[in-house]
Order: sequence, then C-alpha cells, then structure tokens
Amino acid sequence: MREVDVAVIGAGPAGLFAAYYAGFRGLSVAVIDALPEPGGQVTAMYPEKLILDVAGFPAVKGRELVANLVAQAAPFHPDYLLGVRAEKLSYLDGRPVLGLAGGEQLRCGAVVVTGGLGSFTPRPLPVADSFTGGGIVYFVPQPTELTDRHVLIVGGGDSAFDWAATLAPLARSVTLVHRRDRFRAHAATVERVRALPVRVVVNAEVSRLYGEDHVTGAELTVRGGVAETLPVDTVVAALGFTADLGPLAEWGLTLDRRHIVVDSAMATNLPRVFAAGDITEYPGKVRLIATGFGEAATAVNNAAVAIDPTAHLFPGHSSDGT
Ligand SMILES: Cc1cc2nc3c(=O)[nH]c(=O)nc-3n(C[C@H](O)[C@H](O)[C@H](O)COP(=O)(O)OP(=O)(O)OC[C@H]3O[C@@H](n4cnc5c(N)ncnc54)[C@H](O)[C@@H]3O)c2cc1C
Repeated sequence: MREVDVAVIGAGPAGLFAAYYAGFRGLSVAVIDALPEPGGQVTAMYPEKLILDVAGFPAVKGRELVANLVAQAAPFHPDYLLGVRAEKLSYLDGRPVLGLAGGEQLRCGAVVVTGGLGSFTPRPLPVADSFTGGGIVYFVPQPTELTDRHVLIVGGGDSAFDWAATLAPLARSVTLVHRRDRFRAHAATVERVRALPVRVVVNAEVSRLYGEDHVTGAELTVRGGVAETLPVDTVVAALGFTADLGPLAEWGLTLDRRHIVVDSAMATNLPRVFAAGDITEYPGKVRLIATGFGEAATAVNNAAVAIDPTAHLFPGHSSDGT
C-alpha cells in the first residue's frame, strides 16, 4: 500500500496551495484530482479570464495563476494523481486510507479535502459516443498545441468563446457551433470574438464526425436540415460540467447541503481529515480563491500537528530560510 503524509483531494487553487504548505512543513504530499489537469474550476471554466482579487496580483490570468501555484509547490515534488477520483475512506491503525478509482490504496497521515464543487464531469458531446478516434478534447491546457489546426468549438458559454478568442490567432481556422442563436457567454466576450476571424454557426449541431484514428472532419446540421462538412483536426467540446460531491457524500463527514462542515482549525468531524476551499462550510463562509488559500494553510498546519502532536502549529516564516 502506498504511503504519504498528506493526501490532498482536489487540485484546485486551495489544493495546490495545500500541497505547497505540506511540502513547506516537510511532509510528503499526494494531490489527487478526478480531472486530467490541475486548477479545478479555474482550469475547467475560466483559464483565459483575468482574476482581479488574488492578493498580490493586480490582475492574473486563470491559467497563469494555476501555473504559478504548481511552480510554487514544485520544489517539494508533490505526487500528482490526476484523472483519478478518491472513492473511499477507511481507517487502519487510526490512520486514514483512501481508496482511489482503479483500486489503488493510499495510506495517509492526514487527508485535506479541497474538493470544491465536488467531482466535475464534462458534459459529453453526444455525437462523440459513436466516434472512437482521438481529437475530441474538453480542455485546452496548451493552446499552442493547436497552432495551424482546424478547430471546431462546440458550445455557447463563456468557455466556448474564451477558447475561440485564444485559438483564433493560432489555429488555421476556428469555427464555433452552437445549437441556439442566443449565447450564455457575456455579451462583451461574444462581441470580441465576432471581431476575430472566427466563424460562428448558430442553430446548428455536430451531426457526424469523420476520421478513423483521429478526427479529420465534421458534419454540421443547421436547424431546418441543411448540412455542411468542414475539415476539423480538433473538436473542443465546451458544453459545461456537472459537479456533485460524489463519493465524498458517503464518507460519514458532517455535511451542510453540498458542503463539509469544519471548525476554525479546518478540521472535519472525522479524525485526521481536514478540509479547505469552496467545499467547506462554517458561519460567515465566503467562497473565493483568496479565502481558500488561507484555509489551506490552516488545514495543513493543523494536519501537521494531527500527524505529529509534538509539532508546532505555527510553521515558521517562509522568508526565514531565504
Ligand atoms: C466563471 C467563474 C469565475 C470565477 N471568478 C473568480 C474570481 O474572479 N475570484 C475568485 O476568488 N473566485 C472566482 N471564482 C471561484 C473560484 O474559482 C473558486 O472559489 C475556486 O476555484 C475554489 O477552489 P477550490 O480549490 O476550493 O475548488 P475547485 O477549484 O472547485 O477544485 C476542486 C477540485 O477537486 C476535484 N475533486 C472533487 N472531488 C474529488 C474526488 N472525490 N476525487 C478527486 N478529485 C475531486 C475536482 O475535480 C476539482 O478539480 C470563479 C468561479 C467561476 C466558475
């Protein structure tokens, strides 16, 4: 059975900062996330937007904030288990054991749950069900990888329009297809994309994908029955995400609706299990990245004492060693 001092469940902003703090405390750390990329809601929903309320950054793109958080934790070599859901919690000799999707077990000194809204699942592109080749993505972690490609974006929300704006200067062509003629995206974002070389096709659906190992084209059917075929190298399915607490709801944690109740130490009702970030609930809770960072520091430092009761709660100043 694999062992780690601190298992962080969720690689959103709170979880990534918890990984830094665990490393700073000299604890080994594993970060588990059901998504294939770190960054939680930021990566999934608004990587290209500017965030204006993270202390010390007058304005930072979501993608850059996540990259900085990963870089900040990197000196401590967190073990990232991405694309893996934490399914079960049990105890062995008083220490938590996490059961991961796929059957692996992780014995932990403590667990810090930073699960945000819960497990995200991208809403699937219906036509992709009958297509076995590659080239259909739900995230674009490295936009430059789509340089010179024909890109088809499906969706009418902010993510779809943000991807269109990001990819327009890089891709050979960008087509955005939406099944309605009204968009959920902000009007200003839609206007910005309208001014770019992006073809926007409304009242239309992707009715067929072509290609064997990899997508090479798509058929769009416009309401009323007119179909057209266009070359496509990558389909970006930006149809949103569903999120629920999933297995965490079955662990015996005290919950308040979809949130985990914690005390001022970020401790849950379960021994050696702490929580931080959007998933927590306490009187006066404010769900922001800034508050999640502070909660992550509190959770990890209290977890350090739960692991070793002789340890100091206060970690010392990071600047002392510089
Ligand atoms: C469009 C939009 C704009 C926003 N703008 C701002 C802003 O300007 N400023 C601001 O402060 N906040 C903003 N927010 C809110 C901010 O993104 C959240 O407060 C923040 O992401 C919460 O971070 P977190 O780490 O707690 O959780 P999340 O970012 O939600 O990450 C949680 C992670 O946990 C994973 N997870 C959950 N359960 C499991 C499991 N069982 N196993 C494995 N993985 C699991 C999920 O896959 C997810 O990746 C915005 C949110 C949205 C949607």
